[in-house]
Amino acid sequence: MASGGSNISSTSHSFHLSLLTLTLLLLLLPSSSALPHTHTDNPITRFQNYLRINTAHPTPDYTSAVTFLKAQAQSIGLLHQTFEFVPGKPLLLLSWPGSNPSLPSILLNSHLDSVPAEPLKWLHPPFSAHRTPDGNIFARGAQDDKCIAMQYLEAIRNLKARGFTPTRSLHVSLVPDEEIGGFHGHARFVESKEFEELKVGFALDEGQASPGDEFRVFYADRFPWHLKIKAKGQPGHGSMMYDNSAMENLMKSVEIVSRFRESEFDVVKAGKAANSEVVSVNPVYLKAGVTSDNGFAMNVQPSEAEAGFDLRLTPTTDPEEMKRRIAAEWAPAARNMSYEIIEKGPIRDHLGRPMMTATNDSNPWWLVFKQAITSAGGKLSKPEILPSTTDARFIRHKGIPVLGFSPMRNTPILLHDHNEHLQETVYLKGIEVYESLISSLSSFTEASH
Ligand SMILES: [Zn+2]
Repeated sequence: MASGGSNISSTSHSFHLSLLTLTLLLLLLPSSSALPHTHTDNPITRFQNYLRINTAHPTPDYTSAVTFLKAQAQSIGLLHQTFEFVPGKPLLLLSWPGSNPSLPSILLNSHLDSVPAEPLKWLHPPFSAHRTPDGNIFARGAQDDKCIAMQYLEAIRNLKARGFTPTRSLHVSLVPDEEIGGFHGHARFVESKEFEELKVGFALDEGQASPGDEFRVFYADRFPWHLKIKAKGQPGHGSMMYDNSAMENLMKSVEIVSRFRESEFDVVKAGKAANSEVVSVNPVYLKAGVTSDNGFAMNVQPSEAEAGFDLRLTPTTDPEEMKRRIAAEWAPAARNMSYEIIEKGPIRDHLGRPMMTATNDSNPWWLVFKQAITSAGGKLSKPEILPSTTDARFIRHKGIPVLGFSPMRNTPILLHDHNEHLQETVYLKGIEVYESLISSLSSFTEASH
């Protein structure tokens, strides 16, 4: 119909006009820093854009994440290299050459991947990076650990804009697969000649949020062992009592392991150690029984039974002593028992030393780190052992000092949890903290290594 056609044409005409007005308005607007929430490219929107790339397991979109970060690096003026030590698992290395490249360099590490999320249990979709009116940004990875990757880059961007030049070279590694053990990511990187050529003198990796006013810092990780205990014994009719049946043997072991668990836990409950300072052991599965059509045969004693435990060793645990305890007490061959330990990474460094980064005067890097936090108006709580495990252990294995640090204070600990989020004011303060850290660490010239 003609009248309809005329209406359409007038609509499209006014649309062009409003586009022109919008373009003019944008040209007249002040720069992004003055308009943190209305402009499309500012530290918060850049953080949100990175969070929107779904790098959750089991199918992390590493290609998009690396493309995005590479574009960020180019806009800042950083050198970039991509390595694929394992096909399909890219590792991006960004570099800011120092004025004295013969000095050992500084490495800032962050992992590209994240754990999966259950979208139905979230207030906002986990890859929407939704920002609430009060400034909370919801996303899987907001705390663990896409925040630090973008904070490193924003801090470098700001330092460059101010004309700062590092003395030591600075590198940012963005690595795959940390959440599934890091064996195809950082573990391969530290063994490469490319890593050796960086001559890393000091590194920072992820830490954890602090619910209080002080920042937390971690000087060691705990070391996971997956332990499987198997028992074998006389099978037989459920009406008889046998000595050394598989179930009896396994239940004895479970009791002994439980007593060890209690003794470690008592030290924590008495306030004598933090959770991460003792060896934890938690039963994770029990497997036994002879199956029948409707479940288990209730009158058959099984000939085999198995239990699985998640052990976390502290950096000072003697692994040989622990193995002796398992062999002698938890799974004694004399009771027809056997065991298997799957060690999830090294527990001693390349020289056989416990993997801990000194947080005292003996470590000049620690003093520079602490001073840089103070200069940024921050306070540190007592250095801790991380209860879990990060890629830092692979760097410590090389004998390189590493601190685990994510500048999130007054923040609930939500890593791997539903509704992981980060307050934007906390995020922006973190950028300032890294400006202080990067400028101090890269200017520090007195360390001999
Ligand atoms: Zn992490």
